[in-house]
Amino acid sequence: MINNGIDISIIVPMHNEEGNVNLFYQRTSNTLKQLKISYEIIFINDGSKDNTQALIYQLSKQDEAVKYIDLSKNFGHQIAVSAGLAHASGNAVVIIDADLQDPPELINSLYHKFSEGYDVVYAKRKKRQGESAMKLWTASLFYRLLKKITNVDMPLDTGDFRIISKRIVKILNNMPERNKFLRGQISWVGYNQSYVEYDREARQNGDTSYTYSKMIRFALDGITSFSDIPLRLVTYLGLFISVVTGLLTLYALYSRFISKIYTAGWTSLMIVILFFGGVQMIAIGIIGEYLSRMNDDIRQRPLFLIKKTNLEDKSTDV
Ligand code: UDP
Ligand code: MG
Repeated sequence: MINNGIDISIIVPMHNEEGNVNLFYQRTSNTLKQLKISYEIIFINDGSKDNTQALIYQLSKQDEAVKYIDLSKNFGHQIAVSAGLAHASGNAVVIIDADLQDPPELINSLYHKFSEGYDVVYAKRKKRQGESAMKLWTASLFYRLLKKITNVDMPLDTGDFRIISKRIVKILNNMPERNKFLRGQISWVGYNQSYVEYDREARQNGDTSYTYSKMIRFALDGITSFSDIPLRLVTYLGLFISVVTGLLTLYALYSRFISKIYTAGWTSLMIVILFFGGVQMIAIGIIGEYLSRMNDDIRQRPLFLIKKTNLEDKSTDV
């Protein structure tokens, strides 16, 4: 098999991580050296506004295992990881966050489990530190909801921290959707999957780049790419409402022409109008969510663009 002799590629998306670059590099390369395998660390600078790229560049001058992909702007975490996947040449690929919430030392256990013959070994969190109660609660609610309404069996309490085989990387690179939800896509492919458990630590330096609005967008990507239930719900809701409005119409006709008891029913009219107005907006919104994603897929714009890299630029291949 041609693999440039590289056993493992580490993919690290970075957005404003100047405080973590060096510590991440040290901890990761120490772990990898212990494994006594050949490796590359691919840092993806996702449009950072701080010194991240300069620090990565410096590391790449000192250590030829350090590769960098400097994206032309901020594309978002999932796309940054996708850029890494498109350029990784290892037989196994690890996806890991730069903020040291995913302990690089765990790569050791991930790799050992992987060597038993799995295609995917994900890191499952036992507990999380340094994250707000709100974030923990919304995350747990989201994954439970997702499990209920999608038909992919997505493991609970996992992020993107995992090791995957070359064949899974190939499949991911060939999946056409532009709005990526990698952990869902990886569950969807199947093959032999397993996990190792760990404690998620607090972020070392800097702040989370996942704002609530990014989280909502990410959650919608997860739902719309793996479930048609929201669309179906709209249909059922529409049917139910048609029945109710049908009855209401009959009642209105009855009171107007038969019982002849009718008043200028401003209140009831308002309630009805507002209620149906609201339901229609929701329905249109849900359809819009799916449509806009289809639109992204149809446009087939490049997933990401690269300003500078010490790898072969593959931005137009995916
Ligand atoms: N990240 C990125 N692009 C973004 C946002 C985040 O590459 O637009 C990186 C970030 O540098 C980190 C990882 O993705 O390595 C996870 O981000 P973060 O820690 O902000 O998310 P959280 O852990 O809070 O979910
Ligand atoms: Mg983080």
